[in-house]
Amino acid sequence: MDRNPQPGKAAVQGRGVIARYGAFLPVTAATPVVSLGEGNTPLIFSPRLSAAVGRGCEVFVKCEGLNPSGSFKDRGMTVAVSKALARGAQALICASTGNTSASAAAYAARAGMRCAVVLPAGKIASGKMVQAFIYGARIVAIDGNFDQALEIVRALGARDDFAIVNSINPDRIAGQKTAAFEIVDELGDAPDLHLLPVGNAGNITAYWAGYQEYCAAGKATRHPRMIGFQAAGAAPIYRGEVVTKPETVATAIRIGNPASWAQATRAIEESRGLIDIVTDEEILDAQRWLASAEGIFVEPASAAPIAGLLRAGAAGHASCFSASSIPDGSRIVCTVTGHGLKDPEVVSAAIPPPQPVSPNESAVWRALENGRS
Ligand SMILES: *Cc1c(COP(=O)(O)O)cnc(C)c1O
Repeated sequence: MDRNPQPGKAAVQGRGVIARYGAFLPVTAATPVVSLGEGNTPLIFSPRLSAAVGRGCEVFVKCEGLNPSGSFKDRGMTVAVSKALARGAQALICASTGNTSASAAAYAARAGMRCAVVLPAGKIASGKMVQAFIYGARIVAIDGNFDQALEIVRALGARDDFAIVNSINPDRIAGQKTAAFEIVDELGDAPDLHLLPVGNAGNITAYWAGYQEYCAAGKATRHPRMIGFQAAGAAPIYRGEVVTKPETVATAIRIGNPASWAQATRAIEESRGLIDIVTDEEILDAQRWLASAEGIFVEPASAAPIAGLLRAGAAGHASCFSASSIPDGSRIVCTVTGHGLKDPEVVSAAIPPPQPVSPNESAVWRALENGRS
């Protein structure tokens, strides 16, 4: 059976970001590719979000939760793990707020390598913990936060045993650039504004590098303004100082001393963008709004840019990203970074306890009528 009628396309479809964008990545024909088919995620036009912003703006949501381990981390991990394998590394190590460990564990399994993950105890969403376990990683929880976990990993990585796959590894940033390439390839050019959550600040660094490289290669004529959102309780870049005890419901961005701080600042300055904050309440409201209004369920951290956009659309609120930051008719892309099912607890708390009714049509009809108001 001829399942691949177009040989050109068949060479890259479903084979991941190295197959598709290898020319822009630090790999050679000899690099052994470790891929789970990451990338090529949907860029979904969002009519209600567009209407909420108004003034003829078009909003698209880049759904990175549809990567193989459920977050954008897979784009960088395929490159980092392929290069680690090429160097003959036996084991990977990372600090993580959850998604880096899930991704590292998956790609280690694929590569036949060992993987160690160092996590802040009690601050990892349950779905991410389940992933690290089922993919077979060695898990060490510390009585401390992500920033401390990363310090320990930096020290352990100095020994030869481990390849560090945090975003301090430039191969991670390189792979993550491919999301910007996909957006330009799909829209025909760069958007006017690009909004995303900021934690360790690797992703905003990566997107900016991707947009710039695509301009340099003649594949885009312009670049977007980069707009980053931190959680109010974990906002070192916004506040201009290290936060020693970061706190937020959005555990993926619960970071007080971002590794790519300087690069993120440069991305914001060079793109004439900005960094803003959103509260936990705004994050959870936006998470629920995006699910119920657009059918897109993301984890709390991913809802941060949505919260910022909704607030700017509603105006009135004094913040640095406001309606005046959005010219009429802007084309806006929001990256939603991870899947909602990774962190069911934050939602479960809001579900009313079920009150069973008799198993017949009239009882169910009555229950539906009662629930309507
Ligand atoms: C890692 C992560 C972030 C933060 O990305 P940085 O590159 O650390 O700024 C945001 N959201 C999710 C879901 C993540 O996994």
